[in-house]
Amino acid sequence: MTALAMTEPATHDETAQTILQWEQVREQLREEFGEAVFKSWLKALFVTEIIGGTVRLAAPTRFMRDWVVSHYADRIRVLWQGINPTITTIEVVVQLETSALAPIPSQKSDSQPIFGEAPPSREEPMSIDRDVIGAALDPRFTFDNFVVGKPNELAYAAALRVAESQKAQFNPLFLYGGVGLGKSHLMHAIAWHIKTYHPKRRVIYLSAEKFMYQFIRALRYKDTVAFKEQFRSVDVLMIDDVQFISGKETTQEEFFHTFNALVDQNHQIIISADKSPSDLEGMEERLKSRLGWGLVADIHPSTYELRLGILHAKADTLNIPIPKDVMEFLACKITSNIRELEGALNRIIAHATLVGREITLETTHEVLRDLLKSNDRRVTIEDIQKRVAEYYGIKISDMQSARRSQNVARPRQVAMYLAKTLTSRSLPEIGRKFGGRDHTTVLHAVRKVQEVKAQDREFSEDLDILRRTLEV
Ligand code: ADP
Ligand code: MG
Repeated sequence: MTALAMTEPATHDETAQTILQWEQVREQLREEFGEAVFKSWLKALFVTEIIGGTVRLAAPTRFMRDWVVSHYADRIRVLWQGINPTITTIEVVVQLETSALAPIPSQKSDSQPIFGEAPPSREEPMSIDRDVIGAALDPRFTFDNFVVGKPNELAYAAALRVAESQKAQFNPLFLYGGVGLGKSHLMHAIAWHIKTYHPKRRVIYLSAEKFMYQFIRALRYKDTVAFKEQFRSVDVLMIDDVQFISGKETTQEEFFHTFNALVDQNHQIIISADKSPSDLEGMEERLKSRLGWGLVADIHPSTYELRLGILHAKADTLNIPIPKDVMEFLACKITSNIRELEGALNRIIAHATLVGREITLETTHEVLRDLLKSNDRRVTIEDIQKRVAEYYGIKISDMQSARRSQNVARPRQVAMYLAKTLTSRSLPEIGRKFGGRDHTTVLHAVRKVQEVKAQDREFSEDLDILRRTLEV
């Protein structure tokens, strides 16, 4: 057994071996746990580091990390030890835009690609550690997997244009929007596209944080010439979450020079941030203004339609049938961001696969109880009654009344249906708010509305409008 110093960085050979070992472990996991579990929980993991006997894996979300740690980490360790007995620990961290180990060039597998690749024939300068320049690309973040809707159509169109063009388009392309709305997804998609269709073009994708880290490292090792050279010689430079360098003056200065050098050569730059250039605080004025020179495209918060579309796409890829009412419920309730929406879906699927139970609205409520609480939009049954009464021109008191005429009964059923789908109240609770009706009456109303909705387009549109006005 070789005694590796704990802190010594892995050599190229060790890196290659680790990747190969991970490939084998992955395959065994896939076989053991089956395709659905593999796709939901294990496929997105990648190796970031191996130090001594510890393998560090990264998962894209905290939830996924926790799940992997509690359900699969032990098994991963055992399997890994079967291949390499020196491995003693598996660590799982949350990382999306970080450096994965580079795949071995001759490998056929498409699993963990790395970025910042030079054309195959070119030798890398010795002083540049290629593994740490760029960041790993998430294999799921492609244009094909990106669902386009009103909130992101401009950003999508701009990203696609940049990816397809051999020349710099709007320079820079500046994408901004809130957390979890798809900025990184679009940037990875650009990178994948270029990698696939224009493999000669050199692309670097990395977070602003990592840019800073690289820069500081270069300063420390007096290696700034190589640092500058490596960034300035790329065709496309993408920096994610540029707000990170707010207030970091020296890094901004360096970034500004890199930026200018690339723009002068007409090389493409793509930047993302959580705010528009002019709203970025702690950023030098000249940099702010420079960032706004090209095309600034914002991604708006998602709409119900987009969320539903994303859920459909995701369920399709996973090839797992999810009932329509469950999808609608999720699209309604998990409005914070897409990452959380995906997390919720994964959780439901995992629960169903593990427990072997069918996915229904009831199990969904159960599995997501904690999540739903924090996402509770606080739409109350009273809000619903009021809005529905206004919409159909009836009195609010009719929501509780015993009147059975159709012009009152139908809106009342609609309100009950919306109460069931938009709040986490139980059937008896809803019944009580509607003049003390029985829970079977509520259930009947929900079924009736679903039935009419499937047949009557106008009615179905009314429902959508109501839902949307209640959502904001
Ligand atoms: P951001 O970088 O804006 O914080 P991400 O790009 O990391 O957000 O997106 C969060 C998650 O939501 C990712 O898993 C991404 O694939 C998914 N996502 C966001 N927007 C879309 C979309 N329009 N279609 C499909 N998936 C999306
Ligand atoms: Mg991001």
